[in-house]
Amino acid sequence: MEFDLIARHFTRATPGAVLGVGDDCALLAPTPGMQLAVSSDMLLEGRHFSPQDSPAGIGHKSLAVNLSDLAAMGATPRWATLSIALPEADDAWLTAFARGFFRMADLHGIELVGGDTTRGALTISITVIGEVPPDQALRRDGAQPGDDVWVSGTIGSAALALAYRQGRLFMEQVDAARVLPALYLPTPRVELGITLRGVASSAIDISDGLLADLGHILERSQVGATLEFAALPTLPAAQAYLHEKVARDCVLAGGDDYELCFTAPAEQRDAVAAAAQSAGVAVTRIGRITAEPGLSVIDADGQRLPFDKAGYDHFAA
Ligand code: ADP
Ligand code: MG
Repeated sequence: MEFDLIARHFTRATPGAVLGVGDDCALLAPTPGMQLAVSSDMLLEGRHFSPQDSPAGIGHKSLAVNLSDLAAMGATPRWATLSIALPEADDAWLTAFARGFFRMADLHGIELVGGDTTRGALTISITVIGEVPPDQALRRDGAQPGDDVWVSGTIGSAALALAYRQGRLFMEQVDAARVLPALYLPTPRVELGITLRGVASSAIDISDGLLADLGHILERSQVGATLEFAALPTLPAAQAYLHEKVARDCVLAGGDDYELCFTAPAEQRDAVAAAAQSAGVAVTRIGRITAEPGLSVIDADGQRLPFDKAGYDHFAA
Protein backbone atom coordinates (compact mmCIF):
# COMPACT_ATOMS: atom_id res chain seq x y z
CA MET A 1 0.00 0.00 0.00
CA GLU A 2 2.73 2.41 0.99
CA PHE A 3 4.75 1.69 -2.17
CA ASP A 4 1.65 2.07 -4.24
CA LEU A 5 0.94 5.42 -2.59
CA ILE A 6 4.48 6.66 -3.25
CA ALA A 7 4.36 5.44 -6.86
CA ARG A 8 1.00 7.07 -7.48
CA HIS A 9 1.48 10.41 -5.77
CA PHE A 10 5.16 11.16 -5.40
CA THR A 11 7.01 9.54 -8.28
CA ARG A 12 7.78 11.80 -11.20
CA ALA A 13 10.48 11.94 -13.83
CA THR A 14 13.58 13.61 -12.38
CA PRO A 15 15.82 14.55 -15.30
CA GLY A 16 17.97 16.69 -12.97
CA ALA A 17 18.93 13.72 -10.77
CA VAL A 18 21.04 10.66 -11.54
CA LEU A 19 18.46 8.57 -9.66
CA GLY A 20 15.21 9.74 -8.08
CA VAL A 21 12.46 8.06 -6.02
CA GLY A 22 12.51 4.28 -5.77
CA ASP A 23 15.89 3.12 -4.50
CA ASP A 24 17.49 3.27 -1.06
CA CYS A 25 18.95 6.67 -1.84
CA ALA A 26 18.63 9.26 -4.54
CA LEU A 27 21.81 9.95 -6.50
CA LEU A 28 22.59 13.58 -7.25
CA ALA A 29 25.36 15.13 -9.29
CA PRO A 30 25.96 18.76 -8.27
CA THR A 31 27.02 21.19 -10.97
CA PRO A 32 30.85 21.22 -10.85
CA GLY A 33 32.19 24.15 -8.85
CA MET A 34 28.92 24.99 -7.13
CA GLN A 35 28.30 24.82 -3.39
CA LEU A 36 25.22 23.05 -2.07
CA ALA A 37 22.73 24.92 0.12
CA VAL A 38 20.62 22.58 2.27
CA SER A 39 17.65 23.44 4.47
CA SER A 40 14.76 21.64 6.19
CA ASP A 41 11.43 22.86 7.49
CA MET A 42 8.75 20.86 9.25
CA LEU A 43 5.04 21.68 9.25
CA LEU A 44 2.67 20.25 11.86
CA GLU A 45 -1.09 20.15 11.79
CA GLY A 46 -2.46 22.43 14.49
CA ARG A 47 0.62 24.60 14.49
CA HIS A 48 1.38 25.48 10.87
CA PHE A 49 -1.95 24.60 9.31
CA SER A 50 -5.34 23.41 10.43
CA PRO A 51 -7.22 20.26 9.41
CA GLN A 52 -9.75 22.28 7.38
CA ASP A 53 -7.06 23.88 5.19
CA SER A 54 -7.08 22.88 1.55
CA PRO A 55 -4.61 20.03 0.90
CA ALA A 56 -3.42 21.72 -2.31
CA GLY A 57 -2.69 24.83 -0.24
CA ILE A 58 -0.78 22.74 2.31
CA GLY A 59 1.27 21.22 -0.53
CA HIS A 60 1.98 24.68 -1.92
CA LYS A 61 2.91 26.24 1.41
CA SER A 62 5.03 23.40 2.74
CA LEU A 63 7.32 23.56 -0.28
CA ALA A 64 7.11 27.37 -0.54
CA VAL A 65 8.46 27.92 3.00
CA ASN A 66 11.38 25.61 2.22
CA LEU A 67 12.10 27.34 -1.10
CA SER A 68 12.05 30.62 0.80
CA ASP A 69 15.13 29.52 2.73
CA LEU A 70 16.97 28.79 -0.52
CA ALA A 71 15.83 32.23 -1.78
CA ALA A 72 17.21 33.90 1.35
CA MET A 73 20.57 32.25 0.65
CA GLY A 74 20.61 33.20 -3.03
CA ALA A 75 20.59 29.51 -4.01
CA THR A 76 19.12 27.99 -7.16
CA PRO A 77 16.65 25.22 -6.18
CA ARG A 78 17.59 21.73 -7.43
CA TRP A 79 16.24 18.85 -5.35
CA ALA A 80 13.81 18.14 -2.49
CA THR A 81 12.88 15.26 -0.23
CA LEU A 82 9.46 14.94 1.38
CA SER A 83 8.80 13.04 4.58
CA ILE A 84 5.16 12.80 5.44
CA ALA A 85 3.17 11.24 8.27
CA LEU A 86 -0.51 10.70 7.52
CA PRO A 87 -3.30 9.42 9.76
CA GLU A 88 -4.70 7.46 6.80
CA ALA A 89 -4.00 6.99 3.10
CA ASP A 90 -6.67 9.40 1.87
CA ASP A 91 -6.30 9.32 -1.90
CA ALA A 92 -8.26 12.50 -2.62
CA TRP A 93 -6.25 14.41 0.00
CA LEU A 94 -2.94 13.10 -1.36
CA THR A 95 -3.89 13.90 -4.95
CA ALA A 96 -4.68 17.51 -4.05
CA PHE A 97 -1.62 17.83 -1.80
CA ALA A 98 0.64 16.52 -4.60
CA ARG A 99 -0.97 18.92 -7.08
CA GLY A 100 -0.14 21.93 -4.86
CA PHE A 101 3.33 20.58 -4.11
CA PHE A 102 4.33 19.82 -7.71
CA ARG A 103 2.88 23.07 -9.02
CA MET A 104 5.21 24.97 -6.69
CA ALA A 105 8.05 22.58 -7.58
CA ASP A 106 7.58 23.11 -11.32
CA LEU A 107 7.47 26.90 -10.91
CA HIS A 108 10.97 26.80 -9.41
CA GLY A 109 12.55 23.85 -11.20
CA ILE A 110 12.99 21.73 -8.07
CA GLU A 111 12.69 17.93 -8.31
CA LEU A 112 11.33 15.56 -5.65
CA VAL A 113 13.96 12.83 -5.39
CA GLY A 114 12.99 10.93 -2.23
CA GLY A 115 11.43 10.96 1.18
CA ASP A 116 9.64 8.82 3.69
CA THR A 117 6.00 7.95 4.26
CA THR A 118 4.55 6.74 7.51
CA ARG A 119 1.32 6.62 9.50
CA GLY A 120 0.83 9.24 12.21
CA ALA A 121 -0.50 12.70 13.01
CA LEU A 122 -0.26 14.80 9.85
CA THR A 123 3.32 16.07 9.69
CA ILE A 124 5.24 17.27 6.68
CA SER A 125 9.00 17.56 6.70
CA ILE A 126 10.78 18.78 3.59
CA THR A 127 14.46 19.14 2.84
CA VAL A 128 15.53 21.27 -0.08
CA ILE A 129 18.90 21.35 -1.79
CA GLY A 130 20.05 24.22 -3.96
CA GLU A 131 23.25 25.43 -5.56
CA VAL A 132 25.15 28.67 -5.17
CA PRO A 133 28.51 29.79 -6.58
CA PRO A 134 31.32 29.87 -3.98
CA ASP A 135 31.36 33.07 -1.89
CA GLN A 136 28.08 34.33 -3.36
CA ALA A 137 25.61 32.97 -0.83
CA LEU A 138 23.55 35.68 0.89
CA ARG A 139 24.52 35.07 4.49
CA ARG A 140 23.20 36.73 7.63
CA ASP A 141 26.57 38.02 8.77
CA GLY A 142 27.47 40.47 6.02
CA ALA A 143 25.57 43.66 6.93
CA GLN A 144 27.80 46.75 7.37
CA PRO A 145 27.11 50.11 9.04
CA GLY A 146 25.66 52.51 6.46
CA ASP A 147 24.05 49.75 4.38
CA ASP A 148 20.44 50.22 3.33
CA VAL A 149 17.83 47.80 4.68
CA TRP A 150 15.42 46.53 2.05
CA VAL A 151 12.36 44.34 1.98
CA SER A 152 10.64 42.65 -0.96
CA GLY A 153 6.91 42.72 -1.74
CA THR A 154 4.61 43.72 1.10
CA ILE A 155 4.74 42.66 4.72
CA GLY A 156 2.22 42.00 7.48
CA SER A 157 -0.43 40.49 5.21
CA ALA A 158 -0.12 36.92 6.46
CA ALA A 159 -0.29 38.02 10.11
CA LEU A 160 -3.23 40.32 9.37
CA ALA A 161 -5.02 37.39 7.73
CA LEU A 162 -4.33 35.22 10.76
CA ALA A 163 -5.47 37.95 13.18
CA TYR A 164 -8.65 38.34 11.12
CA ARG A 165 -9.27 34.60 11.06
CA GLN A 166 -8.72 34.33 14.80
CA GLY A 167 -11.07 37.26 15.49
CA ARG A 168 -8.30 39.47 16.92
CA LEU A 169 -8.76 42.12 14.22
CA PHE A 170 -11.91 43.25 12.46
CA MET A 171 -11.47 43.70 8.72
CA GLU A 172 -13.96 44.40 5.95
CA GLN A 173 -14.48 41.20 3.99
CA VAL A 174 -13.14 42.73 0.79
CA ASP A 175 -9.90 43.68 2.57
CA ALA A 176 -9.61 40.32 4.32
CA ALA A 177 -9.94 38.59 0.94
CA ARG A 178 -6.90 40.55 -0.28
CA VAL A 179 -4.62 39.61 2.62
CA LEU A 180 -5.64 35.95 3.00
CA PRO A 181 -3.59 34.62 0.03
CA ALA A 182 -0.41 35.75 1.82
CA LEU A 183 -1.21 33.32 4.62
CA TYR A 184 -2.24 30.33 2.52
CA LEU A 185 -0.31 30.78 -0.71
CA PRO A 186 2.99 32.53 0.05
CA THR A 187 5.38 33.25 -2.84
CA PRO A 188 9.01 32.36 -2.19
CA ARG A 189 11.30 35.05 -3.67
CA VAL A 190 13.60 32.58 -5.36
CA GLU A 191 14.40 34.70 -8.44
CA LEU A 192 15.15 37.76 -6.31
CA GLY A 193 17.55 35.78 -4.12
CA ILE A 194 19.45 34.71 -7.23
CA THR A 195 19.57 38.19 -8.79
CA LEU A 196 20.79 39.68 -5.48
CA ARG A 197 23.95 37.54 -5.53
CA GLY A 198 26.92 39.88 -5.43
CA VAL A 199 24.61 42.84 -4.72
CA ALA A 200 23.14 42.28 -1.24
CA SER A 201 25.49 42.18 1.75
CA SER A 202 23.14 39.98 3.82
CA ALA A 203 19.66 38.47 3.57
CA ILE A 204 17.04 36.53 5.49
CA ASP A 205 13.48 35.47 4.72
CA ILE A 206 10.72 36.83 6.93
CA SER A 207 9.18 33.79 8.56
CA ASP A 208 8.99 34.94 12.19
CA GLY A 209 8.37 38.65 11.63
CA LEU A 210 10.39 41.61 10.34
CA LEU A 211 11.84 42.68 13.71
CA ALA A 212 12.77 39.17 14.79
CA ASP A 213 14.26 38.17 11.44
CA LEU A 214 16.13 41.42 10.84
CA GLY A 215 17.29 40.96 14.44
CA HIS A 216 19.07 37.75 13.33
CA ILE A 217 20.99 39.70 10.67
CA LEU A 218 21.92 42.39 13.22
CA GLU A 219 23.09 39.83 15.73
CA ARG A 220 25.15 37.84 13.25
CA SER A 221 26.60 40.98 11.65
CA GLN A 222 27.16 42.72 15.02
CA VAL A 223 25.42 45.93 13.93
CA GLY A 224 22.16 47.79 14.65
CA ALA A 225 19.43 49.31 12.48
CA THR A 226 16.90 52.11 12.31
CA LEU A 227 13.69 51.51 10.38
CA GLU A 228 11.04 54.00 9.28
CA PHE A 229 7.58 52.68 10.00
CA ALA A 230 6.02 54.83 7.26
CA ALA A 231 8.35 53.26 4.68
CA LEU A 232 7.23 49.69 5.38
CA PRO A 233 5.40 48.36 2.31
CA THR A 234 1.94 47.03 3.06
CA LEU A 235 -0.96 46.03 0.84
CA PRO A 236 -3.47 48.84 0.22
CA ALA A 237 -6.08 46.55 1.82
CA ALA A 238 -4.05 46.64 5.07
CA GLN A 239 -3.52 50.37 5.29
CA ALA A 240 -6.88 51.36 6.74
CA TYR A 241 -6.15 49.23 9.81
CA LEU A 242 -2.67 50.45 10.68
CA HIS A 243 -3.93 52.89 13.35
CA GLU A 244 -4.69 49.78 15.42
CA LYS A 245 -1.86 48.35 17.48
CA VAL A 246 -2.78 44.78 16.51
CA ALA A 247 -2.32 45.70 12.84
CA ARG A 248 0.95 47.57 13.43
CA ASP A 249 2.27 44.56 15.33
CA CYS A 250 1.33 42.39 12.35
CA VAL A 251 3.52 44.53 10.09
CA LEU A 252 6.48 44.80 12.46
CA ALA A 253 6.35 41.43 14.12
CA GLY A 254 3.93 39.16 12.27
CA GLY A 255 5.37 36.06 10.66
CA ASP A 256 4.68 33.93 7.61
CA ASP A 257 5.23 36.57 4.91
CA TYR A 258 8.21 34.83 3.28
CA GLU A 259 9.43 38.09 1.81
CA LEU A 260 13.16 38.76 1.79
CA CYS A 261 14.73 41.31 4.11
CA PHE A 262 18.23 42.19 2.91
CA THR A 263 20.94 44.80 3.20
CA ALA A 264 23.10 46.40 0.52
CA PRO A 265 25.60 49.27 0.38
CA ALA A 266 24.05 52.57 -0.75
CA GLU A 267 26.24 52.41 -3.92
CA GLN A 268 24.26 49.34 -4.91
CA ARG A 269 20.85 51.05 -5.09
CA ASP A 270 20.73 50.89 -8.88
CA ALA A 271 21.93 47.29 -8.84
CA VAL A 272 19.21 46.39 -6.28
CA ALA A 273 16.60 48.04 -8.48
CA ALA A 274 17.88 46.11 -11.51
CA ALA A 275 17.88 42.84 -9.55
CA ALA A 276 14.30 43.44 -8.42
CA GLN A 277 13.21 44.37 -11.91
CA SER A 278 14.67 41.28 -13.49
CA ALA A 279 13.11 39.13 -10.72
CA GLY A 280 9.75 40.85 -11.29
CA VAL A 281 9.23 41.86 -7.66
CA ALA A 282 9.01 45.24 -5.95
CA VAL A 283 11.59 46.11 -3.30
CA THR A 284 11.43 48.96 -0.78
CA ARG A 285 14.15 50.68 1.21
CA ILE A 286 12.99 50.69 4.82
CA GLY A 287 15.98 51.86 6.86
CA ARG A 288 19.68 51.89 7.57
CA ILE A 289 22.24 49.71 9.30
CA THR A 290 23.99 51.46 12.19
CA ALA A 291 27.31 50.72 13.88
CA GLU A 292 25.57 51.14 17.23
CA PRO A 293 23.76 47.91 18.16
CA GLY A 294 20.00 47.80 18.71
CA LEU A 295 16.95 48.09 16.49
CA SER A 296 14.71 51.15 16.51
CA VAL A 297 11.65 52.03 14.51
CA ILE A 298 10.83 55.70 13.93
CA ASP A 299 7.54 57.24 12.83
CA ALA A 300 7.07 60.00 10.24
CA ASP A 301 8.10 62.68 12.79
CA GLY A 302 11.33 60.89 13.63
CA GLN A 303 9.95 59.80 17.01
CA ARG A 304 10.87 56.33 18.23
CA LEU A 305 7.88 54.04 17.97
CA PRO A 306 7.50 51.99 21.11
CA PHE A 307 7.35 48.28 20.48
CA ASP A 308 7.65 45.74 23.20
CA LYS A 309 9.17 42.35 22.86
CA ALA A 310 5.85 40.97 24.12
CA GLY A 311 4.38 42.21 20.83
CA TYR A 312 6.28 39.69 18.84
CA ASP A 313 6.51 36.95 21.47
CA HIS A 314 2.77 36.88 21.09
CA PHE A 315 3.16 35.84 17.47
CA ALA A 316 5.95 33.42 18.20
CA ALA A 317 3.68 31.52 20.59
P1 ADP B 1 13.30 2.61 2.81
O1 ADP B 1 12.55 1.51 3.47
O2 ADP B 1 14.58 2.20 2.13
O3 ADP B 1 13.43 3.83 3.66
P2 ADP B 1 10.92 3.58 1.62
O4 ADP B 1 9.97 2.48 1.46
O5 ADP B 1 10.75 4.49 2.80
O6 ADP B 1 12.39 3.02 1.55
O7 ADP B 1 10.90 4.47 0.32
C1 ADP B 1 10.99 3.90 -0.96
C2 ADP B 1 11.41 4.97 -1.93
O8 ADP B 1 10.39 5.95 -2.01
C3 ADP B 1 12.67 5.70 -1.55
O9 ADP B 1 13.35 6.04 -2.73
C4 ADP B 1 12.17 6.93 -0.87
O10 ADP B 1 13.08 8.01 -0.98
C5 ADP B 1 10.89 7.21 -1.64
N1 ADP B 1 9.85 7.89 -0.85
C6 ADP B 1 9.20 7.44 0.24
N2 ADP B 1 8.26 8.32 0.65
C7 ADP B 1 8.31 9.36 -0.21
C8 ADP B 1 7.61 10.58 -0.34
N3 ADP B 1 6.63 10.94 0.52
N4 ADP B 1 7.94 11.41 -1.35
C9 ADP B 1 8.93 11.07 -2.20
N5 ADP B 1 9.61 9.94 -2.16
C10 ADP B 1 9.32 9.09 -1.18
MG1 MG C 1 11.79 4.93 4.46
